[in-house]
Amino acid sequence: MKTNSKYIFITGGVVSSLGKGIASASIGRLLIARSYRVTCMKLDPYINVDPGTMSPFQHGEVYVTDDGAETDLDLGHYERFIHTSMGRRNNATTGQIYYSVITRERRGDYLGKTVQVIPHITDEIKRRILAVGEGEEKFDVVLIEVGGTVGDIESQPFLEAIRQFGLEKPREDVMYIHLTLVPFIKSSGEIKTKPTQHSVMKLREIGLQPDMLLCRTENTLSKEARDKIALFCSLRPEMVISARDVESIYEVPVLYEEDGVGDKIVSRLGLKAKEPDLTGWVNFVRKVKEPSAYIRIAICGKYTNLHDSYKSIVESFVHAGVENDARVELKWLNADKMNEENIDQHLRDVSGLLIPGGFGERGIEGKIAAIQFAREKGLPFLGICLGLQCAVIEFSRNVCDMPEANSTEFNPSTPDPVIDLMETQVKVVQKGGTMRLGQYRCDIKAGTHMAAAYKTLTISERHRHRYEFNNSYRDSLESSGLQISGVNPETNLVEAVELVDHPWFVGVQFHPELKSRVLSAHPLFRDFVKACLNFKNERQQLQGEELDEDR
Ligand code: GLN
Repeated sequence: MKTNSKYIFITGGVVSSLGKGIASASIGRLLIARSYRVTCMKLDPYINVDPGTMSPFQHGEVYVTDDGAETDLDLGHYERFIHTSMGRRNNATTGQIYYSVITRERRGDYLGKTVQVIPHITDEIKRRILAVGEGEEKFDVVLIEVGGTVGDIESQPFLEAIRQFGLEKPREDVMYIHLTLVPFIKSSGEIKTKPTQHSVMKLREIGLQPDMLLCRTENTLSKEARDKIALFCSLRPEMVISARDVESIYEVPVLYEEDGVGDKIVSRLGLKAKEPDLTGWVNFVRKVKEPSAYIRIAICGKYTNLHDSYKSIVESFVHAGVENDARVELKWLNADKMNEENIDQHLRDVSGLLIPGGFGERGIEGKIAAIQFAREKGLPFLGICLGLQCAVIEFSRNVCDMPEANSTEFNPSTPDPVIDLMETQVKVVQKGGTMRLGQYRCDIKAGTHMAAAYKTLTISERHRHRYEFNNSYRDSLESSGLQISGVNPETNLVEAVELVDHPWFVGVQFHPELKSRVLSAHPLFRDFVKACLNFKNERQQLQGEELDEDR
C-alpha cells in the first residue's frame, strides 16, 4: 500500500445538510491555491448503485461526469471549486461496493470463506479509495467525503474502513476532519457545544480521532468556546475552526483561509508550506456580493420547490452573473400551474426563460405555453435537454402546423413524433445507467448563437437522456426557421437548435450546466445572461421607467 498521495477524510456529525460537500470542495480549493494537485471522492452510504434511479425530490440533482457516471451532486461542487474533472471512480456507494463483492463471491473468488463486512466490504472500500489516489493520474491530496451523519447505521462500514486505512498508512499521510454544528439557543442566548462533544465521542467510540473540527455556527466562536470544544474533544484549540454562516458558498474557502485552515492542513500532512494564491477567487466573491446590475430569469420546471434538483443550473447563473457583472435572481415557476391563459402574468416581470431537464409528462403543456410566449415576445430562452425537446414540440405545433406534435415519451401514438426514442434505446429494459450518458462531441454551425458563445466549432458536452430530435422532421422544421446549430458528427443526432428571427433562443440536448466553473462560466449561460440584460435594457428604454427587477 505504498503511495505518495495524502488522504483527508471528511465526516459530518450532529445533523445532516451541514455542507460537507462545500467544506470538502473549499479545502480542495485552498490546496489548489497552493499549487497542489487535488482530487475528491464521495462515499455514499445508500444501497442504490447510483442516484440515477432516485427521484430528484429524494436526492437532488444527478451529476453526470464526462465518462457517463450518474453521481452525487457533491461531485458538482468539487468540479466547480477545484476545476478537476471527476469520473466514475470519484463516487462509491454501498450499492456498488456490495455489488462488486457479491459478484466476486458468485465467481468463486472467496471459495471456502465466509464473506463478511469486515474484512471483505471494508477491503473493497479501501481498494476504491486507493484506486483514486494511486490511479494513473497523480494527485498530491485526495479528499474523501463520507456521506451521512456519524451514528447512522449505514455509514458504519465506511467509517470502519477509513479507520483501518489510517492505520495502514504513515500517520502524516492521513488526516480526519469532522464537520459539526454548534447551535445558538435563542432563549438562553448561548451557543451549545454538547452536540459536537457527543458527535466526536461517537467517532472516538469507533476508533476515529478527528485532527480538525469545522464547527458550523451563526457567528464566530469565542476563544472560550473553542478551548472548551478542544478540551472535551481531545484536540489542540487551533484545530477547532469556526465555520460561520456566510452569504455565498463561494466565501467558504476565503473564510477557512482567514482561519489558517490551509496552512494547518499542509503542516499536519507534512507537505511543503506554500503561499496560497486566492486573488482570482477573492475577486470573484466580491463580484458575487456587489453586482452592478440585477436581472430576473424564470426557471420553469417540475421540481421547483426543491432547488437542489437544479443545483448546477443555479450555480451556473452565479458564474455567468459574475462575468456580466450582474446578479441573477431566479423566479421559480411550477410548470404544473401554467397555461396559455396565465402565462403572461407569470412571465411579464422576467427578462429570460430557462426550461431545465426533466422526465415524464407532468408540466409539459405549461412549459410549452411558456416557450411559445418567449418565442413570440422575443424573450431570451435557454432550453436544456427536455427544454430543447419542448421547444421543438412548440415550434412544430404552432409554426409548422402540426397541432398534435409531441414526444413519444408523453404521447406514444402522436401522429407527429418530432421527439422520439433513440434507436439505441428501443430495446433497453434495464433502468439504471442505460440512458445516453456522458460526454459526446457536437459540431457547431458557423454564424449561430452557439458559434458566437463557444468561439469554436467543435465542442463536447455531457448528456443524460433517452429521447432525441427526430431527424425525419429536420427539413420541414428548418425551412420554417428552426435552425439546427449543433449536430453529433458520428450519429447525426441533433444537439442544438435555435431560432433565426429571435434575439436569443437556444435549445441544447446536452447539459451545459455541468461544465460551468467558478472564474470560467459556461459560454451558453454567459451569453444567455447577456441577452437577458439586453432585453431588460431595451424594455426599460421602451417603457422609460424603472422595472421592479431593479432593487
Ligand atoms: N425525458 C427526456 C429524455 O429522456 C429528457 C431528459 C432530460 O431532460 N435530462 O430524453
